[in-house]
Amino acid sequence: KPVIVLFRHDLRLGDNRALCAASQTGKPVIPVFLRDERVSGDNRPTGGARRWWLHHSLTGLAASLQALGAPLILKRGRTDDVIDTLIKDTGADMVVWNRRYDPPGAEIDDALQAELSHRAVATQSFEGQILHEPYALKSGPGGHYHYTAFWRALHDMPEPRDPLPVPLALKGWHHGLASDKLDDWCLLPQHTDWSQGFSGVWSPGENGALERLSIFLDGRIDNYPEDRDRPDIEATSRLSPHLAHGEITPFQIWHATKNPALDGQRAGAEKFRQELGWREFSYHLLFNNPRLRSENYNTAFDGFPWENRPDHLSAWKHGKTGYPIVDAGMRQLWRTGWMHNRVRMIVASFLIKHLLIDWRIGEGWFWDTLVDADPASNAAGWQWVAGSGADAAPYFRIFNPILQGEKFDPKGGYVREFVPELTALPDKYLHRPWTAPEVTLKKARIDLGKTYPRPIVDHQRARKRALEAFDKSR
Ligand code: FAD
Repeated sequence: KPVIVLFRHDLRLGDNRALCAASQTGKPVIPVFLRDERVSGDNRPTGGARRWWLHHSLTGLAASLQALGAPLILKRGRTDDVIDTLIKDTGADMVVWNRRYDPPGAEIDDALQAELSHRAVATQSFEGQILHEPYALKSGPGGHYHYTAFWRALHDMPEPRDPLPVPLALKGWHHGLASDKLDDWCLLPQHTDWSQGFSGVWSPGENGALERLSIFLDGRIDNYPEDRDRPDIEATSRLSPHLAHGEITPFQIWHATKNPALDGQRAGAEKFRQELGWREFSYHLLFNNPRLRSENYNTAFDGFPWENRPDHLSAWKHGKTGYPIVDAGMRQLWRTGWMHNRVRMIVASFLIKHLLIDWRIGEGWFWDTLVDADPASNAAGWQWVAGSGADAAPYFRIFNPILQGEKFDPKGGYVREFVPELTALPDKYLHRPWTAPEVTLKKARIDLGKTYPRPIVDHQRARKRALEAFDKSR
């Protein structure tokens, strides 16, 4: 009798505990990617950018599984219904999977486990995409979470387990089990193709993930602590979409950064692991606060007087706010499905504080447009910037988009890449074009208000208004 291996956010063969366990049973293995997109409570459909990624990642996974001897079966529907049919069709007497920690996913898996326990079907689940499961690592007395304490607690835990190798071969189950056709899922853009800029930047799939890791470890890690805040330099790993789809595990990354060959880069490796720690922290927060994306973690923000002006929201989404660093970030997001972390903080702060638009609206836009959209890191990131999150930046710390641009994109390479209409503007004015003399603008072929917008809000006035709004809400 075969064993069913469920794939969801773990689109890889390496370090896949469920797959290894299935192969070790000696039974025929049926790998199933199960797309259960029921929308209820805080569960929502996969965003557009991630759908693009998923299509390509599944193509790679199917090819790798085929090569190992066990073709991937694609199924869509309610998990319990799909599994029930599969068991009836195949006689499978065992189902295995890697655990999920987002509350809707965990709930579906718990229900499946309970359902199968009433039947003669064995189940086994294994730790998933974080180093320490939320039930194992306790942090935050009284439910309050601080990153430093969390990181210390993580360090006090036993060393994360070693990653597992790819199984050498799988015994397939070849009795004509029907699979959905990937193209029928219509995951790629259907009408306008907004994804053209994606394929030049990304290689979805396990091989792409391992390649990203090795590029990072072979060079960028040296200067990671100094350069990670610079959007004009390729200084970070760009592993986030691979992690979000489970094409690589934090165990693989953690141990790779501890390789003795990297001894000279200890500071870089430690800083990098700390950033991975933020991802862990976000998952612990989400697990313990299931409504993280819809409710203020700090309820003192519940009465905040949002303005939510549609014209301002549209200018922000389209990268037309008149603040070059904000516009470059929003256009990088649209063109590539990703944005540098420093710039995520700047654009989020701008939306929330300069425009007084509810952070949940920004979170929703990121959810749809980021290839790494993640239920934990996205919600935690937005709440952190808003000041309403756990261990968040205080609300009154309002990013100045001009100074942030000048500090972190000092030569303007980032702005020039994504806002080409400003290319010819001298560095001195690049982050504040409205202060350039008429003649300079003319020489740079910029007609403010026509070829590039004037600022939609004045920084000083917006800052004052944001602080007043904060006072009003308290
Ligand atoms: P690196 O600097 O190479 O870091 C390595 C890994 O550590 C990342 O891949 C990521 O998994 C993790 N990491 C790094 N910084 C953070 C952080 N601040 N919070 C959580 N994990 C972190 N990250 C997502 O993966 N998905 C999201 O949806 C997401 N939304 C965000 C929204 C906002 C408003 C903000 C401020 C941050 C958000 N982040 C999100 C966190 C961070 O911006 C990205 O993880 C990071 O930019 C990914 O690039 P990288 O892989 O090159 O990072």
